[in-house]
Amino acid sequence: RALEEVLRDAIRTIPDYPKPGVLFRDITTLLGNAQAFRRAMDELVAPYADSHIDKIAGIEARGFILGGAMAHQLYAGFVPIRKKGKLPHETVRVAYSLEYGLDEMEMHVDAVSPGEKVILVDDLIATGGTAEAACRLLKQLGADIVAACFVIDLPDLGGRAKLEAMGIDVRTLIA
Ligand code: IMP
Repeated sequence: RALEEVLRDAIRTIPDYPKPGVLFRDITTLLGNAQAFRRAMDELVAPYADSHIDKIAGIEARGFILGGAMAHQLYAGFVPIRKKGKLPHETVRVAYSLEYGLDEMEMHVDAVSPGEKVILVDDLIATGGTAEAACRLLKQLGADIVAACFVIDLPDLGGRAKLEAMGIDVRTLIA
């Protein structure tokens, strides 16, 4: 079966979560489906097999799961991008806006060295605010951001365009 059909069937949609009017795309059903998870990961990493990627940077928390699988497949390291206050060593921090107010995310200062080739990953891109903040952190550390990868794109919310305007190559598996 075509990958897009496999993914469409494996992703669950929860109406009115986390609040009324929102259609939440739930990838836990994709992660729990061995065939769908494997095919999604194979597709995400395929273009980078010979790219000598140094690090996969995953956004808390679902980006950790996808990023761990990608790092293994690409023989790359994995680095976490976390909500503030979770990382034990010295960090770089960036503020970004959510629907209500501000939040901050962090990386360890030594998680990426200048010039390292990094792929950013998260489960879904909506407005792109989260991924844009993550890219700012990676750039602050001197990373060469090869691509930002997401399983799901919500194209109406403009996230892809926002990252592309920063010069980031964006890859998504399903819209
Ligand atoms: P953005 O910053 O507006 O692009 O929102 C993307 C962030 O919110 C990512 O970390 C996603 O995991 C999360 N997110 C937003 N909407 C959904 C959804 O429908 N399903 C799963 N995660 C979502």
